[in-house]
Amino acid sequence: MTRAEFEQHLIPQARRLAAALRTRPFDPSAGLEVGAALVAAHCTDPGSLPHTLGVIDSYLTLYCPPEEPQPVEQLRARCTRLQHAVAAGFAEALRERTRSEQEAMSRAALRAQADAEQALHRSEARFRAVFEGAAIGIGIADMDGRIVDINESLTRMFGGLEHHVRSRRVTDWTHPEDSPGVWRTLAELMRGERDHFRVDKPYYRNDGTVLWTNLTVSLLRDRDGTPRYMLALMEDITERRLLNLRLRYEATHDALTGLPNRTFFFERLESAVAARGGTARFGLCYLDLDGFKAVNDHLGHAVGDQLLVAVADRLQSCVTAPSQLVARIGGDEFVALITDPPEQKDVTDFAERILDALSTPVSIAGKELTVRGSIGIVDGPAGKLGAAEVLRSADITMYRAKAAGGNRYEHADPEADTRVITRHGLTNSLPMALQRGEFFIEYQPLVRLSDGQVHGAEALVRWSHPLRGVLGPDQFIPLAENTGLIVPLGRWVLEEAVRQARDWQFQHIDGKALRVNVNLSPCQLHHPHLVRDTVEVLKEAGLEPSSLCLEVTESALIGADETLLKPLRELADLGVDIALDDFGTGYSNLSNLRRMPLSTLKLDRSFTRGMQREPADPIDIKIVEGIVSLAHTLDLAVTVEGVETGVQAEHLRVLGCDTAQGWYYARPGPPERLHTLSLADAT
Ligand code: C2E
Ligand code: CA
Ligand code: CA
Repeated sequence: MTRAEFEQHLIPQARRLAAALRTRPFDPSAGLEVGAALVAAHCTDPGSLPHTLGVIDSYLTLYCPPEEPQPVEQLRARCTRLQHAVAAGFAEALRERTRSEQEAMSRAALRAQADAEQALHRSEARFRAVFEGAAIGIGIADMDGRIVDINESLTRMFGGLEHHVRSRRVTDWTHPEDSPGVWRTLAELMRGERDHFRVDKPYYRNDGTVLWTNLTVSLLRDRDGTPRYMLALMEDITERRLLNLRLRYEATHDALTGLPNRTFFFERLESAVAARGGTARFGLCYLDLDGFKAVNDHLGHAVGDQLLVAVADRLQSCVTAPSQLVARIGGDEFVALITDPPEQKDVTDFAERILDALSTPVSIAGKELTVRGSIGIVDGPAGKLGAAEVLRSADITMYRAKAAGGNRYEHADPEADTRVITRHGLTNSLPMALQRGEFFIEYQPLVRLSDGQVHGAEALVRWSHPLRGVLGPDQFIPLAENTGLIVPLGRWVLEEAVRQARDWQFQHIDGKALRVNVNLSPCQLHHPHLVRDTVEVLKEAGLEPSSLCLEVTESALIGADETLLKPLRELADLGVDIALDDFGTGYSNLSNLRRMPLSTLKLDRSFTRGMQREPADPIDIKIVEGIVSLAHTLDLAVTVEGVETGVQAEHLRVLGCDTAQGWYYARPGPPERLHTLSLADAT
């Protein structure tokens, strides 16, 4: 081919690679085909593959059409995978060609010896042609290992000096990285006990650099089967090997911090915890930064990244022996693995070193950031637990350290683990549960004490968990609050309950408007869209604001300032009732009640328990009497919770309480039941 022809041949290939780099989804298989096309075009010179790979790196990634900018990291990762595909396609095509060449070689070589005198010349000529023209390196040695002949390709692979190769016997070409057994296998072949073998084998070139080959050695026997020559076919795989090493490095290291990643760490953990007989031990520290999310959210990801890099450096500085490994296994999660710690104390020492290393603030972009972390420690004898179990236990233990306030370490404790696993498992499945519609609401009637009529109901959410059955709010509301899921969940409850209240009103012919009470958690109270969302939900359902009562716990309002009260005040102004829930369980400054936009006090169950039986506890009677009169002075209605007996209900009525709720009237149940209850008492 002329140069121009050759270019015509290569340009489409370059275009294919460029397109592959940018096509979504990324598919590196174009690389395989381009690699094969290179071989088909006889671009098999040892330099051609490295050059092609270099072109991908330096030209194709540079060219990025402005209309579709691509993150550099992504491009780099794609580039590596594409290079790998080109190298693999090239190698496979070359190997395919090698195989056919090898067959031709062996046939020609044997025929050269076997053919009659006059045919010898022709056969020999054919042999020469294949031998010299082959793209792969070919060498022939006698049964003592003396080199008889080498072809041009092989000389070039070894650095271009024919003498350098010819002057040595086959057995002289040792290398420290020779695979174990390669020399034993060769000896077997030289004794005629095997006919061929194939290995990856390194050699030194004449300039001392290392050449990696895929080597196939075959025995050539003469007519009566006596071994005569050894035929070596060599493919240069140096470049491919480097690429593989690079890929392996990238697959096992975290691009941001350079620390080993989860994959690498897990391999090491697996071998550290594997039973090796004897007394091997291991230790694992699982570190999660405290409050990292806040850094990311408030200072930006760039600062977050720098912080992680700084943390990685500090962790690395804690390593004092080759048996210690630190890795980054997730966003702000790091681990330290200690293989065979001489003493159990060494693992705890390591955890202390980590906390200590983190204690000095990190300065980033002119800011001093304080980093804290929580560490879960698992240590023990190898061979007892699997790697995944150990990691999970460490994770759970870390969670416990975090729950205890953070900036500390905890040791694994199987009993505490089971408690936390439940929490942990529920927390993880919460978000999906909302999407899957696993929540439902039960309604508990609120009864007017003066006439015993149902005038509303409180919405109480439940979770129909696919494995654990129905869970009460106490089991998941705190988790939902911790994870922020309470906001969408709370909104869902509000929508459902408001829609339900509207349905009740439609069903009531006599126009008695049933109201609904919905619980608000502290998170919702702080949410900037509380008012907007509530108004929206009411509008959408077409429910009067006065038919909704929001219950806020006393503890959520302790120390509340005007900013927190403002949204409640706005809602109250719109006509929504606000009830102070669980009144009496926290410390309320009674005079504070005056400045809160409340319309109802919900007296906690604990106050009225003493009235369940006759005679009632006189102190309880006095307290409730006092509270009722205070509430009425402040223009607040009083609702009593946990009314379980008729005696109790009667006492409360006499004491002037307005509304009651409790098992005496009805347990929380499906919405239809409320309808029948209220119809029943209307008759
Ligand atoms: P709460 O607001 O004090 O709700 C009353 C709780 O007392 C309910 O428990 C109810 O089933 C129970 N109860 C009712 N009558 C009686 C009785 O006569 N005797 C006794 N011993 N208990 C009675 P539940 O449903 O387990 O709810 C527990 C708490 O979960 C609620 O306490 C409320 O604070 C919270 N919660 C329920 N649903 C929601 C919700 O949708 N959002 C939020 N943020 N919290 C909710
Ligand atoms: Ca409530
Ligand atoms: Ca309550």
